[in-house]
Amino acid sequence: MRNTQAVQLLFELSKAGRRAAVYPACDVPARPLDELIPRAQQCGSPPGLPELTEPDIIRHFVNLSTKNMSVDTHFYPLGSCTMKYNPKRHERLVGLPGIVDLHPNQTDENSQGMLEMMYTLQEMLAEIAGLPAVSLQPAAGAQGEFTALLVASAYYRAKGERRTKVVFPNSAHGTNPASAALAGFECVQLTSTPQGFVDLHQLQTHLDAQTAVFMVTNPNTLGMFEREIPRVAEFVHAAGALVYIDGANMNAIAGVTRPGDFGGDMMHYNVHKTFTGPHGAGGPGAGPIAVRDFLADFLPGPVVTKETDAGGKPVYRSTTPARSIGRVRSFFGNVGILVRGYCYLRTLGAAGVRAMSENAVLNANYLLAKLKDVLPVPQGDRCMHEFVASAKQLKDERGISAMDIAKRLLDFGFHAPTVYFPLVVPEAMMIEPTETESRETLDAFADAVRQIVAEDPEFLRQAPHDTPISRPDDVRAARNPILKWTDFRAT
Ligand SMILES: *Cc1c(COP(=O)(O)O)cnc(C)c1O
Repeated sequence: MRNTQAVQLLFELSKAGRRAAVYPACDVPARPLDELIPRAQQCGSPPGLPELTEPDIIRHFVNLSTKNMSVDTHFYPLGSCTMKYNPKRHERLVGLPGIVDLHPNQTDENSQGMLEMMYTLQEMLAEIAGLPAVSLQPAAGAQGEFTALLVASAYYRAKGERRTKVVFPNSAHGTNPASAALAGFECVQLTSTPQGFVDLHQLQTHLDAQTAVFMVTNPNTLGMFEREIPRVAEFVHAAGALVYIDGANMNAIAGVTRPGDFGGDMMHYNVHKTFTGPHGAGGPGAGPIAVRDFLADFLPGPVVTKETDAGGKPVYRSTTPARSIGRVRSFFGNVGILVRGYCYLRTLGAAGVRAMSENAVLNANYLLAKLKDVLPVPQGDRCMHEFVASAKQLKDERGISAMDIAKRLLDFGFHAPTVYFPLVVPEAMMIEPTETESRETLDAFADAVRQIVAEDPEFLRQAPHDTPISRPDDVRAARNPILKWTDFRAT
């Protein structure tokens, strides 16, 4: 059951004179604090800090932590974020002394084990991408996008071409236009077809000698595979531009098909999503990029290369590509997350990676089939690893919004799905169950949604009812409407 007890602040729990530590008697002359700290004089009185014993403090924070939702405590179908279970074995492996005690400034000779792991990870990511050159540096998917766009810029500069535009569909994740704007490009947004796919005709009207990159997520953010992707790539390439695949949805296709095989020239991974780095609340992440051979020289360094010494033994080196754009992060990036991804891929192997994707797609389709009669899915009866339902009809007919359903789900002990994204679906609820959930969990979630949509709309507007705090953010959210991508356009 959820812990619904109200939370008292440390200040409210405070009792004058209580302490968590007892200091020995002072054996030096005492000097008043305000002599030592000029600001103390200005303030007049010391800050009123709460006074508590150590057990009071520990209970306060441990109890607070039990009010959180996490993948380890609750079903967490947050679409696009791939909140799958993170194996605890990886925590033990990444904590081994040989890994945590390694200093990034140690010489290559001194770090052969880590370099071998990073080299093998590069190779595995290149294979899954179908793109031969990998940089592990970017610390998140968004930074991977930004890095790849800088690589594209450097490539065109080297060719003596000036290309200024980045094109993307309106179903794109907000990071796509944000990365493009930050990398100095002009953003061009396409309207998707009514089925939610890239509109080929519209795309063609925006492909010219100024187009640098077409960014596309595949499967797209509606959870649909872009079937026309080879033709999309053909058109983009005919204009001399590059195809960028946002790899956040690799959990649907890894081991089944490869971005490099369907026309992608560059992509990022979200290791923390697809390959089980514990993530949420903004980090930590790893967003390696994979690119075609003709872009390899521009990658940020260091990358790991493998040579063979005179005795035939492999030697790993960290090197900087010849025309590198420079570093985008220190050393190899978030190595802790990269090691977890390495462990995951080595554990699963090729067949396991394919089974991962297939089971993620199976689970999402199972849930879609159980929900679509009460929560319509405008894009149809089948999906990849996630689907986007719409509460529009419920809102029009009964005044129940996607937000109301999301909030009420918390009372049932489920984390809410992603809501109001992608922007192309009204009252969107983006549901991604992942392959690590059992049929019983999916059934319980479907039962909860079916019960919720039958409840009194006014009761739902007040939800959640069983949490210590209800809708704390709504007043502020109403005052700060969501920023649009045009707000981020480079000036
Ligand atoms: C998560 C996500 C990103 C950004 O990745 P971060 O690692 O959070 O920076 C980009 N595109 C899509 C479709 C995503 O789901």
